[in-house]
Amino acid sequence: MKNGDPIVNPPAAKILIVDDERDLVEMLAFALQKKEYQTIRAYDGPEAWGKIQTEKPDLIILDLMLPDLDGWEICRMIRRDERKEIRETAILMLSARALTTDRIYGLELGADDYLTKPFSLAELGLRVERILKKRRAVSDLFKEVDHLRYKMQEQEVGLRKVIHDLKTPLISMGASAKLLMRRANQDESLDFLRSIYENSLRLTHWLEEILIFSDSPFKGMVSEMEEVEIQALVKKTVDLLRATGREKRIEIDFRPDLTLPTVLCNERWMQRALENLLLNALKYTPEGGKVEVAVVRCAEGEAVEIIFKDNGIGIFAEDLPKIFEPFQRGRNAAGEKGIGLGLSLVKEVVDLHGGKILVQSQPQKGATFSIVVPVRKTLRRKAAEMAAENFTNI
Ligand code: ADP
Repeated sequence: MKNGDPIVNPPAAKILIVDDERDLVEMLAFALQKKEYQTIRAYDGPEAWGKIQTEKPDLIILDLMLPDLDGWEICRMIRRDERKEIRETAILMLSARALTTDRIYGLELGADDYLTKPFSLAELGLRVERILKKRRAVSDLFKEVDHLRYKMQEQEVGLRKVIHDLKTPLISMGASAKLLMRRANQDESLDFLRSIYENSLRLTHWLEEILIFSDSPFKGMVSEMEEVEIQALVKKTVDLLRATGREKRIEIDFRPDLTLPTVLCNERWMQRALENLLLNALKYTPEGGKVEVAVVRCAEGEAVEIIFKDNGIGIFAEDLPKIFEPFQRGRNAAGEKGIGLGLSLVKEVVDLHGGKILVQSQPQKGATFSIVVPVRKTLRRKAAEMAAENFTNI
């Protein structure tokens, strides 16, 4: 606050006193006004409910024994109301009965405190003060949370924009390096150009993964599923990454099984998941190592399992439970570039297909990752199969 600014006190809390004993209401109002609170009065249930909605008090001192609509019911109506400002009104219950069960029931219904008649005005004053203080602290905390949430959203939007802006020049750098590579032939600059090209590809890939995690892109995934020749999709992925393997003298061993069924899946995302697993196998396997890929039927033909087995550096047992979480990397990964998003993307995709991801590994011996996806059929396909069955039964 600047010097000379007037000191503004927060508005006095507004308290609704609800009791059918008029003298008691007057006495409480008088005592509370002396403490600078604003007071409103109501003498039966319906009048109280009306004033709660029009006056929106901060606190209600609520007697339980009221004509027409009792205090329990009003308490219930407040806590169930869809309007936040009504639902969160503080309640101090008053009762002539000192039964523990009543007190517990009142607190269970959502009252902030409970006072038995007769009570001293000093005690009532203290309790009112305490409740209002607590409510203020909670509401300040909520405001803080809202503010932080807003800030986080703002930062996320900013991050997404930066990533988009970074991607464009990166892609064009990569494309230029590729063009120059064609002209350079055997020139020694070819290696440098290849390095520029590959690093720009890798960076683009990471940026895309960060974008994916800040943009819930999986929303439409389930509705965009179709029957996919899973074998062909695995082969396509292997063919795509053979050259990457050869750079480390790693041959990818893949023997297709030609009798596999089709799988109901989102082809684009499934391919992305397969690529991530194969890229990891190649990345975490030293030069001259071996990577095997296989697709087999499992669960009595109800599912297929796609297996990626390497004889690379392997994973420490204590890291296995966390590697599917975003931004988590194993201790073994220190020597390799990465940001720890690849496997979490695979898990997200597999979960959305109703499948499972499995891993087995031993340090220095290698790792085997496999994804199991159920073979679900489209309704059209099921109808066609049933029609064919009926036809053969005739
Ligand atoms: P990144 O490779 O960017 O670190 P991932 O999410 O793809 O992120 O993988 C998470 C971690 O799992 C890696 O950091 C690494 O420790 C481990 N990992 C994944 N695949 C393999 C593999 N084939 N062999 C050994 N470790 C692996």
